[in-house]
Amino acid sequence: MTAPQATTPASAGTLCIAGLGPGDAQLVTPEVTSAIAAATDIVGYIPYVARIAPRPGLTLHASDNRVEMDRARAALQMAAEGKQVVIVSSGDPGVFAMAAAVFEALEGRPDWQALDIRVLPGITAMLAAAAKAGAPLGHDFCAINLSDNLKPAELIEARVRAAAGADFAMAFYNPRSASRPHTFGRVLQVLLEACGPDRLITFARAVSTPEEKLLTVSLGDATPEMADMRTVVLVGNSATRHVGRFVYTPRSAL
Ligand code: SAH
Repeated sequence: MTAPQATTPASAGTLCIAGLGPGDAQLVTPEVTSAIAAATDIVGYIPYVARIAPRPGLTLHASDNRVEMDRARAALQMAAEGKQVVIVSSGDPGVFAMAAAVFEALEGRPDWQALDIRVLPGITAMLAAAAKAGAPLGHDFCAINLSDNLKPAELIEARVRAAAGADFAMAFYNPRSASRPHTFGRVLQVLLEACGPDRLITFARAVSTPEEKLLTVSLGDATPEMADMRTVVLVGNSATRHVGRFVYTPRSAL
């Protein structure tokens, strides 16, 4: 008989990078719920880990924002040691969240590349917000992260201009924070120049939580204070309009 190995084989560990949706428990997919139920370790940003119910046998590893690469490496290391690890993101893990950070951490680590790694999708903020408003993203649209943590402000402005110039509807994540209170005002100014004052803009805050608030105004009436870090901002294309209490963008641009 061979002696038992001192360490668990690497193949026993798993890493799921899961999206918890916008807030409401009903918007968490059954696949994500199953992964969390099978987890030994949950890793993520403090407010997201706070959404996971503690239970015996489950270790919660909550970390601060802006440490995504450390968090990704720590999660991969635990999976390599044989643990059932779930990294939690809000919304979808591939939208301005942890999935890309994990793959970046995998670069240059062939020993981790054979691990059982799965990305479990979630309902991203712009889709939850659009559903509440009606169908403002009913034609071609794009999503832009307005945070300048990972890219220069000039690139953000260039992308907003290009998207507006191509008549995309737009979804803006991370529109405004205490550390950069003025950049969103600049984005509104660019949009006003490119789209005119009548374009519809929806501020969707804390969608699917008890604090949810939706406000649709014309660009000419929009102010930076209408957004904060819990808001996703949707800007329609040139055909976006009201119908009853809803906002929608026609499917056709013919
Ligand atoms: N991965 C997340 C996005 C993370 S970036 C997703 O797919 O939704 C964080 C930004 O997402 C916030 O600044 C805000 O713009 C948006 N956001 C996340 N949850 C939200 C919610 N419930 N309501 C409105 N916006 C939300």
